[in-house]
Amino acid sequence: MLRDDTLANVLYIDLSQKRFWIERRQDLFGKYIGGTGVATQLLHEECPGNCDVFAPENPIVFAVGPLTAMFPLASKTVAMFKSPHTGNLGESHCGGRSAVAIRMAGYGAIVIRGASDMPLYLAIHGNQAYFRDAAALWGMGSSFTVGRILRENEPGAGLRTIMRIGRAGEKLISYACVSTETYRHFGRLGLGAVFGSKKLKAIVISGKSSLPVADKKQYRKVYDEIHKAAVTSPAMKKYHDLGTAENVLPLNEFGGLPTRNLEEAKFERASEISGEVLAEHFLGRRLACSHCPVGCIHIAALREPYEDEAYFYKTSMISYDYEPIYALGSMLGISNPEGFLKLVDRIEAWGLDVISTGVVLAWATEAQERGIVSEKKTMGVKLSWGDYAAYIDAVELIVEQPNKLYQALGRGVDHAASVYGGEEFALAFGKNEMPGYHTGPAAHIGVLIGARHSHLDNAGYGLDQKGLVKRQLCPEEVAEALLTEERWRQVLSSLVICFFARGIYIPDLVSRALHLAGFDFTPKDLKEIGGEIHREKYRFKFREGFSLDNIRLPKRILETPSPTGRLAEGFIRTVVDHVKKTLLSEGAHNSL
Ligand code: SF4
Repeated sequence: MLRDDTLANVLYIDLSQKRFWIERRQDLFGKYIGGTGVATQLLHEECPGNCDVFAPENPIVFAVGPLTAMFPLASKTVAMFKSPHTGNLGESHCGGRSAVAIRMAGYGAIVIRGASDMPLYLAIHGNQAYFRDAAALWGMGSSFTVGRILRENEPGAGLRTIMRIGRAGEKLISYACVSTETYRHFGRLGLGAVFGSKKLKAIVISGKSSLPVADKKQYRKVYDEIHKAAVTSPAMKKYHDLGTAENVLPLNEFGGLPTRNLEEAKFERASEISGEVLAEHFLGRRLACSHCPVGCIHIAALREPYEDEAYFYKTSMISYDYEPIYALGSMLGISNPEGFLKLVDRIEAWGLDVISTGVVLAWATEAQERGIVSEKKTMGVKLSWGDYAAYIDAVELIVEQPNKLYQALGRGVDHAASVYGGEEFALAFGKNEMPGYHTGPAAHIGVLIGARHSHLDNAGYGLDQKGLVKRQLCPEEVAEALLTEERWRQVLSSLVICFFARGIYIPDLVSRALHLAGFDFTPKDLKEIGGEIHREKYRFKFREGFSLDNIRLPKRILETPSPTGRLAEGFIRTVVDHVKKTLLSEGAHNSL
């Protein structure tokens, strides 16, 4: 029995018919907790097999968890959809105020069906949903402006989230993102393009409900335990001080920072765009997601003079962390911090995933260097390492899609290389562009086998960095370690806990916190549920044609030495085979 009755409320929205209704789904929340567990089930229910990613039948599901708005760092929302980028499971996580707003509006999940025939934005205020005309917002060049207009014109300030897309989502770029609260994103796998296909420019959600607590004394005790760990542990201090940007120099020193399309794994000018330099010269403020005492979001203030105007400046506030520094810094050979920030700013305004965009630009640069794509095809843009102005021009053309090359680049490196060649240096796994870790085999295997093809699925780079692989873990052990981590992360993603707090939310604490929310799961139960959610995700992937047999491995990762030496293709494929055997032996290929 759930203590908070509203968690099991699922809000269904039909954009085609402009109607909404609420269904009680205790069946899902009682069994799969919330977040990713519930969203995966709703995706199975709503998404017909092999449906076109841009068809009205492709749903969007948002889900939060039983600890959302109850305990610190349960601050994220899960989005699920069929990905336009990979053609299978689309899952993306975002913080800001999104999770608390959904919970305070009285929902555990929101399902969006159908498509509108005209641009609109949704306004969900408590138990009411409004379909508002967005014709004036459609086509606007900057998602920042869209957010500002909605902030001023839509009621519900306070616990309100504003999710919106930029031009890239409208133009169906397969790696377009959805931004919330300006600086947070449902970044990967193209949720922005699914919004665009539904003519959905934005969603505003607000609510004023409160959550009942049965055992106040015990609640206070567990709350304080989590809060204290969040504000005093050295691991969390790192996220507050420099943020993940702190990783730039150690990873570079280690020899695992992908540079110039991974032609190298050390960037000779990394110190010019390190977390330390950005903090010292540009840090303007830090922000936190709702209900998070850590505040890891670092915002740079970039001051630029207006031309021909003495003492007049425009100041842009630009968020940064490790992944943009890798994808738009070292990967493109950019060491000028102002240039790097300008590139991030434009990409954020257009609403693209920064990792995919950086890897696409890196591939295009090498392809142009090798004569695979001519300057005629790039429409006069001469891409060269470090030239941030040329990269800004190229990204604008990717968004506007004026010719076949830019249309191909708008579908990612896997697709572009299938059209133009250069697959050996097209750095994508399972069609998703690689994250910033060339730390050893486990980093790449983790992304290959991860259900989302994300470094956050199972953090293989952590396995490399701990030196476990170096101490000669055999392929079975690597497969086992990655699967164990990914399955526990399904529990955290069902709650939905920020992964930065994974060292705090260990199984025993999760079990105690859940008890206070009305769920009685032992640590053993939780691990079993995590395994089942993982299999359910793979059932969706297999149903949509994904296979671990024919997975493409870019040769570049084998050529450029990692800190563990040159990677062996045989080792990587053997680990993938073990993962496949495990999944098949557990029935992950069987349909529901
Ligand atoms: S640690 Fe950072 S990303 Fe995680 S909830 Fe807090 S502010 Fe958001």
